Amino acid sequence: MDVDKYINDTLATVVERNPHENEFHQAVEEVFHSIKPVLTQHLEYIDAKILERISEPERVIMFRVPWVDDQGEIQINKGYRVQFNSAIGPYKGGLRWHPSVNLSILKFLGFEQTFKNALTGIPMGGGKGGSNFDPHGKSDGEIMRFAQSFMSELYRHIGAETDVPAGDIGVGGREIGYLFGMYKKLANEFTGVLTGKGLTFGGSNIRPEATGFGVVYFLAEALKARDDGIEGKRILVSGAGNVAQYAVQKVIQMGGKVLTMSDSSGMVYDPDGIDEEKLAFIMELKNVKRGRIKEFAEKYPSVEYHEGQKPWGVPADIALPCATQNEVELPDAKALIANGATYLVEGANMPTTPEAIEALQEAMVIYVPGKASNAGGVSVSGLEMSQNALKAQWSREVVDEKLQEIMRNIHQKVAEHGEDAQGNIDYMQGANIAGFLKVAEAMLAQGLV
Ligand code: NDP
Repeated sequence: MDVDKYINDTLATVVERNPHENEFHQAVEEVFHSIKPVLTQHLEYIDAKILERISEPERVIMFRVPWVDDQGEIQINKGYRVQFNSAIGPYKGGLRWHPSVNLSILKFLGFEQTFKNALTGIPMGGGKGGSNFDPHGKSDGEIMRFAQSFMSELYRHIGAETDVPAGDIGVGGREIGYLFGMYKKLANEFTGVLTGKGLTFGGSNIRPEATGFGVVYFLAEALKARDDGIEGKRILVSGAGNVAQYAVQKVIQMGGKVLTMSDSSGMVYDPDGIDEEKLAFIMELKNVKRGRIKEFAEKYPSVEYHEGQKPWGVPADIALPCATQNEVELPDAKALIANGATYLVEGANMPTTPEAIEALQEAMVIYVPGKASNAGGVSVSGLEMSQNALKAQWSREVVDEKLQEIMRNIHQKVAEHGEDAQGNIDYMQGANIAGFLKVAEAMLAQGLV
């Protein structure tokens, strides 16, 4: 059996059947290439057409979302839910509201989510959804009316044992609250159908922090594997949203120095390092006032603002991209390498382009894919589902301890499958193989469904 040819032929079919879905092709290509050693040893996966099946979502739901803006004008958006794979548990994955949202982006995210969720050790399948709705500049009333309209269709497709959405870009605690309220009204039941809920109505402690904290816990494990630590490291963070904020907070707590953050307009560079007080200002700015990151530079004179720029040109030891897909391109990777960076750990989903990954790996920069390093968010979502099922609420300390343990276990699993004879860990290969094996085994066992 020529496994290379099989992989290439299958990829060609994926591209042909899903035309113009570049992000989806990119995500599938990365996984298929890195699982070659597994396929060579398990020809039964090829016979059972696991690759062909795993790259086709089980179900895609698309719907109209009509709503009325503050001027009384009717607006129409597209709504989606991609139920990608339920081999190991109910579909689970976030909702993204951003003008760039389309089927390609949600299929790439749902595909990635399937393997990420397998790595967590919690029984959750993969899904993703969202809308091309742009929350920027919308009033609370507009956000609520949009959320209610979105849920008035979505509610018939989800459920605590079927599909459990959460937040993602543009969907945070406020939006989950409105979505949950509408679900409860329509379904007439109070169940754990969404995660990321408020603490007063079934949410989990540490869920807002989980993705960012988890990224830094994973980074600490990766550093530890090379007898190193976060203390004193200069760290670049992109984004200023949920993942970025809590990654910055944990880096500060662990003694690292965060030099940058950013939003979709530009980046801020603080040569003194962002401390707890400055971070509190950014959190208020982004979560309450819903302002722009440049206002941070206006408040603190030592901070520089660079309109339209990304953080990757600033000399540092570690990069944590926490904004969006394909935000680290080849020239950015070259800049990181030239400045002596030694780690890139993804907080966002697929923030690094394939060319950039190749350049980083060639330069021996440790590259950790988001499906391993940002799995802390969905892990605590899984813990939120457990607490809802038990009608219980665990303390911050208990959830944080469980999160740390999950991130350590993911690191161990990924290292097991990605370590070479010299003891170097290929985190991309390890994550893809460990995630794939679990899902593929479950699919084989359940027959052709
Ligand atoms: P938020 O909406 O809270 O924050 C997103 C941040 O990224 C904002 O600062 C935003 O800028 C910036 N951003 C968004 N789109 C772009 C773009 N096209 N170019 C430049 N900057 C951009 O989202 P999250 O923090 O929740 O998500 C960030 C990433 O992490 C995403 O890739 C998401 O899929 C991933 N992720 C999130 C998880 C979670 O639990 N929330 C879990 C796992 C992964 P602005 O303020 O201008 O909008």
